[in-house]
Amino acid sequence: MRFLEPWNIVYLVGYVVYFGTRAVYGRRTKAEKKSLRRVDALEKVLLSAMVPAIIVLPFLYLFTPLLSFADYRLPPVVPWIGVATMAASLWLFWRSHADLGQNWSVSLEMRENHTLVEYGVYRYVRHPMYASIWLWALAQGMLLENWLAGWSVVPAFAAMYFLRTPREERMMCEAFGDEYRRYMRRTGRLFPRLWADSHVAADDRAKATSAGDTDARAKDSHTS
Ligand code: SAH
Repeated sequence: MRFLEPWNIVYLVGYVVYFGTRAVYGRRTKAEKKSLRRVDALEKVLLSAMVPAIIVLPFLYLFTPLLSFADYRLPPVVPWIGVATMAASLWLFWRSHADLGQNWSVSLEMRENHTLVEYGVYRYVRHPMYASIWLWALAQGMLLENWLAGWSVVPAFAAMYFLRTPREERMMCEAFGDEYRRYMRRTGRLFPRLWADSHVAADDRAKATSAGDTDARAKDSHTS
């Protein structure tokens, strides 16, 4: 049985950790009411396309011979790189769930008490959870030796990432205004903007301070 091969067992262990993490943190957000939902037809199609890629094809490959026509052999070093990539993915997935806390949603949604998270893994990148899914997509390809089961997450998640991310950022700009726009200038989407960080952060601090001064002056004139 194919699922008993060592790299496939490693993949299944990672799978349990991935979905276990999502289940634990997902349950914690259940009580948090939603104030906005942007789940239109496109969003539903993008989410549905992930199901065959991340569930159906890997399971057909592992537990049935149906996909064996698309099998191939990888050089022995590749699955080792796959394991390291999977470990990085799981760590980032866990940390982004932990840092987002009650603000997490599987889709384009805002919670009633939504706060902008700018710390932890969100300090340098705006989409660490999506970065973790990219890493997962690569790890799956390096662990499952099958063109369909291994690589299907890449096109499915590419569609989701490139179409959803700008909409998510627009939603966040509408909700948090300049606070999110400043956050965007300091951070990268998937990779840190380290070269710009100190300069932009100093600039933002100065702006935030002068905005605070203006607020204070406005309050003074209001109260006096
Ligand atoms: N794109 C992020 C979050 C994915 S979960 C990532 O890849 O890490 C999707 C939801 O998280 C969105 O619907 C939005 O409501 C929320 N969200 C995204 N970025 C956020 C942030 N910096 N602070 C708080 N909530 C955020």
